[in-house]
Amino acid sequence: MSSLDALIDALKRLPGVGQKSAQRMAFHLLQHDRAAMQGLAQALRAAGEDIKHCQRCHTFSETELCRVCADPDRDARLLCVVESPADQAALERTASYRGYYFVLLGRLSPLDGIGTRDIGVTELLARALEGVEEVILATSFTAEGEATAHVLAEALRARGIRSTRLARGVPVGSELEYVDLSTIAHALVDRR
Ligand SMILES: [Zn+2]
Repeated sequence: MSSLDALIDALKRLPGVGQKSAQRMAFHLLQHDRAAMQGLAQALRAAGEDIKHCQRCHTFSETELCRVCADPDRDARLLCVVESPADQAALERTASYRGYYFVLLGRLSPLDGIGTRDIGVTELLARALEGVEEVILATSFTAEGEATAHVLAEALRARGIRSTRLARGVPVGSELEYVDLSTIAHALVDRR
């Protein structure tokens, strides 16, 4: 495979990028911005090497504990479960949540072979038993996100841990990261 084809193939792995846009990006970089190519290559290498997962909540972090988990001033009684670091960032931007997080890095999807083990349910349950009084299930309002919330709620209930779900108001079918901040903030306040 030529270097050009390899570059286009690599770009096509990004979400929302098809053959045409991958080709356009590759030609743009080669023709107009060789410096950006170096910067991109360096940033990708550094991110791949430096960014790992927080040992406590599993979000992306360059340190053993992420910024949130390392903050002793947050409310340890609250644990919010989200699907992705992007969803966690969306909740953080609302500035209306002061508890800790657990990031599933996915959601249950039996058809794709993603089961409870893949999203760290055992770790979540163990984490919830560390003095958490309420687990807020903030998975997306897609069918799979709802199913994930349901399974987690049952598992938590079996262990005597209270869970709540973000209130409706977040449009059905949506991923949190694309929902506007005030809607998320309201869904958080009105959780039940
Ligand atoms: Zn963390």
